[in-house]
Amino acid sequence: MSTENTSATNKDDNNATKPNIAFIGLGNMGAPMAENLLKAGYALCVYDLSEAATQRLQQAGARVADNPKDATSDAQVVISMLPAGKHVHAVYLGENGSNGLLTELPKGTLVIDSSTIAAADATTVADAATKLGIDFLDAPVSGGTGGAIAGSLTFIVGGSDAAFAKAEPILAVMGKNIFHAGDQGAGQVAKICNNMLLGILMAGTAEAINLGVKNGLDPKVLSDIMLQSSGRNWTLEVYNPYPQVMENVPSSNGYQGGFMSKLMQKDLNLAMQTAQDTNVDTPMGAKAAELYEAHAVENGDKDFSSIMGRHDSSVLS
Ligand code: NAD
Repeated sequence: MSTENTSATNKDDNNATKPNIAFIGLGNMGAPMAENLLKAGYALCVYDLSEAATQRLQQAGARVADNPKDATSDAQVVISMLPAGKHVHAVYLGENGSNGLLTELPKGTLVIDSSTIAAADATTVADAATKLGIDFLDAPVSGGTGGAIAGSLTFIVGGSDAAFAKAEPILAVMGKNIFHAGDQGAGQVAKICNNMLLGILMAGTAEAINLGVKNGLDPKVLSDIMLQSSGRNWTLEVYNPYPQVMENVPSSNGYQGGFMSKLMQKDLNLAMQTAQDTNVDTPMGAKAAELYEAHAVENGDKDFSSIMGRHDSSVLS
């Protein structure tokens, strides 16, 4: 049974109140995000299924809990960074849908889920939270592991104005751009719209460069031309998929690091699921999803710009 959230908080250098935070899910993204909160002086209690993951945070100064309930026992704010919708459901709603963490949290607790999940899954958890007097925000991120480490993520948030206002200073520790996309679920919708477009742009840019190269053009010369012409887009500006056209991008480093093809595939599938659920036509997104699904079979761990290898497998070796 929930009670009002009255547990203690700590103060920052300006004597402003800082809530205690429980952080659940300390993987490639969650661990550096949690570390940035610790560095900013937040009292953190962490939980993850993996002991190695929690040890890293313990060394950085966090208290480690044995289960989600213990992690949140003294927290006014809960942040989660979990792989997929089923994990978010399992943590907050429980295996049978009614024995999850939400029922343990005091009223007034702020829950921020930064996992990338279907908007429908986010609103299911948000509705259950609202019924219990808990503020729920979906706050997926863009920016990858580099952004998580640097504290420069983009947060795309769905939820009430009041909950957003409470979350903003905390998110500002982990990110640079914080958008309020709309009501609960809107953060997830905005994120998959962006990533669907990114997948289309990357697949299209690789296709255009390949067409030029197969017709005798130098990939750098062609990229420079398109960059100053109407085909200009983010991938040409900062993330060219052809090896050695740009320095310090995954394509010039064996497609290591960056944003894995299997994560792009996941996001495109979420976009397709949302399109289907809401009866929206997305033919270009569907094609990008099909291309990444085939590509990720062998190249799931490589950066998503490795879709270039679909046209010229020699770039992958
Ligand atoms: P990850 O697999 O590296 O980490 C997930 C962590 O969650 C793991 O440590 C796992 O042990 C833990 N976990 C799983 N189930 C749990 C449970 N029931 N209770 C507690 N812990 C549990 O994943 P990641 O790369 O950190 O991604 C997390 C989320 O962020 C995903 O939704 C992903 O789509 C999204 N995302 C990832 C990136 C990226 O570049 N990696 C970029 C943007 C968004």
